[in-house]
Amino acid sequence: MTVKSSIRDMILRNRIAQYLLEDEVVMNWSILKKCMLMLMLGSAIHLLWIIWKFYVYVTPELWQWVNLDLIHSQLWTNIVFFCLMVLLIWPCYAGKDNPKIQLILPYLSVGLFVISLCRDGYLIGVMSPATMISYVSLVTVGLVLFTRKIVYSMLIPATIFLSICMYLSIRGIIPYAPIFQPHAYGYQNSFWLFSMIFFIVPILLTCLALFEILLSQWRHREHLIQKLSQVDPLTNLFNRRSINQCLEQLDSAKTDTYALVLLDLDHFKRINDEYGHDKGDETLILVSQVLNQHLRGSDVVGRFGGEEFILVLKNSNLEQAIFIAERCRKAIEQLEIWGHDGQSIHVTASFGIAISTPELVPQQLLTHADQALYAAKAGGRNMVMAYTEQQSFSHLV
Ligand code: GH3
Ligand code: MG
Ligand code: MG
Repeated sequence: MTVKSSIRDMILRNRIAQYLLEDEVVMNWSILKKCMLMLMLGSAIHLLWIIWKFYVYVTPELWQWVNLDLIHSQLWTNIVFFCLMVLLIWPCYAGKDNPKIQLILPYLSVGLFVISLCRDGYLIGVMSPATMISYVSLVTVGLVLFTRKIVYSMLIPATIFLSICMYLSIRGIIPYAPIFQPHAYGYQNSFWLFSMIFFIVPILLTCLALFEILLSQWRHREHLIQKLSQVDPLTNLFNRRSINQCLEQLDSAKTDTYALVLLDLDHFKRINDEYGHDKGDETLILVSQVLNQHLRGSDVVGRFGGEEFILVLKNSNLEQAIFIAERCRKAIEQLEIWGHDGQSIHVTASFGIAISTPELVPQQLLTHADQALYAAKAGGRNMVMAYTEQQSFSHLV
């Protein structure tokens, strides 16, 4: 893989991560886009009402069940609400840079929705399934999309209004569900039942779809955040936290021996100083790829710090660890990296190996690997050294 294509890959990966975090549908929409969604849903509900009322109005067999005068007058109110909500979609689209519009429109959109709920909820019965489901859907969807302040400032007066309607209906001061004839209200009446289904099913399906989107986004986000917390953003290798977790797992499993290899790029500061920080970054990315390519499937590689990497070689004895470390060292040495002016950048690394024993905790093992690495640096760099039990270092190259 060339330097250019590997950098392109990294940039692409970062862009994808950014896209997934910032451009998710619905949840990360701007407030005005959410208002647009609310207004569209609101106008769709009014459209349902218009269809229902119009159908009842042109079907004489149904007139015995309803208050026809009220249906006629309320049909126009629904048309007015429908037009109002559709017309408000435009300022949501056009006013995205206007702070006043951003402040007012959320209250207006939720407010119109709530007024519709109060009006139509009273007409078909405060305690009817359609009103109850609309109320619950509005609270949950509203709270997911908008701030508590917006939702509660609208819903508390609505709840008070619906409760007062209920109280006055019980006292017989106002009629209950005035859009229906009193004898038409109830589960035995198929017209009433079909009317309820007609209003409930679209609301439930919309809410279900919305929650499905939100839930899958939430799961996806969890997954992404978990991944981002585990990997180093520059090299895409495991970060120090993940490596520590891996070591703790190996330690608690206390099964086979494993090898820890710490490697540090030699005179890396010079690469930054001579060729620029971006070339330093490129070098780190390429070294990461080389390490990934030269390890076994069961091995774990992580970025331990600046230009320091760590290899956890599971089920490995000293000879196997030396073999793998040596293979990586040679591969890094042979890396072809070019500076901006076409000069060849030479990169090497020093390696320190430590082998696990049942008595050693991971932190002690790390110290041993670090001491071996220090010895490799002191010994002239670009070499592999192993920590031995006699506390001396074996020079392996
Ligand atoms: P030695 O052979 O003794 O390890 O020398 P060195 O120059 O590699 O070590 P030193 O600790 O002096 O310098 C490490 C340099 O690595 C310094 C720091 O700026 C650089 N570095 C650390 N992280 C990054 C990074 O993410 N990107 C780049 N470009 N440079 C980094
Ligand atoms: Mg170094
Ligand atoms: Mg270092």
